[in-house]
Amino acid sequence: MAAALNLAWEQLGQHVFRCRLPICDVTIGLVHAAGEVLLIDTGTTLPEARAIAEDVVVLTGREVGDVLLTHNHFDHILGHSVFAGARTYCSPEVVATMATQVEHLRADAVGHGADADAVDRAVGALAAPSSSIAAAVIALGDVEVAISHPGRGHTDHDLIAVVTGEDPAVVFCGDLVEESGDPCIDEQSDLLAWPATLERVLAAGGDGAVYVPGHGALVDATFVRRQAEWLAGLAT
Ligand SMILES: [Zn+2]
Repeated sequence: MAAALNLAWEQLGQHVFRCRLPICDVTIGLVHAAGEVLLIDTGTTLPEARAIAEDVVVLTGREVGDVLLTHNHFDHILGHSVFAGARTYCSPEVVATMATQVEHLRADAVGHGADADAVDRAVGALAAPSSSIAAAVIALGDVEVAISHPGRGHTDHDLIAVVTGEDPAVVFCGDLVEESGDPCIDEQSDLLAWPATLERVLAAGGDGAVYVPGHGALVDATFVRRQAEWLAGLAT
């Protein structure tokens, strides 16, 4: 009998999955092909991250070898220590946050309802990657994952991952796109730049791609375009 999964994974293509974690409904992405596994974001607590790690082995027969952290918000990065052996792709700002802003990460996580003890354990285990890689093309057999920074928006350093070699292409948008609520705009955001950044996300994925928001249900190019127009309206 196949081992049970901890989390509900949606299959988006032959080689692509994602799930939505209980804390903040944050998206975790998974791309696997040719014996390689890329994970996109890592959740808030160690139990969440361990549940992901176990599921990856069940789904792929492999362990996570590469991790992309889309940006420096707690729900995307605090589970990272569970994958400390993997190669990490992220912006320099994520490395800096993990190295010097752990108190802020902790307060933000607890403020959003995460269990304080669980957050303390995740923060205590966290180690910043030794370097940042904010742009790369990862070839996994016939599947290619292009990691890039399309511009300022939700933060000044959001990264996206465009998966091609799948039909349709899949774009992991991080929090540049949100579906379950309005896009989160805070002091790190650049509202004026965000719409043009989304145009670059759309150009990277194309009209037929599946767009995976950082929070919420899968969307299409039309939704992303509407969100860009909504943000542009706010900016004026
Ligand atoms: Zn965020």
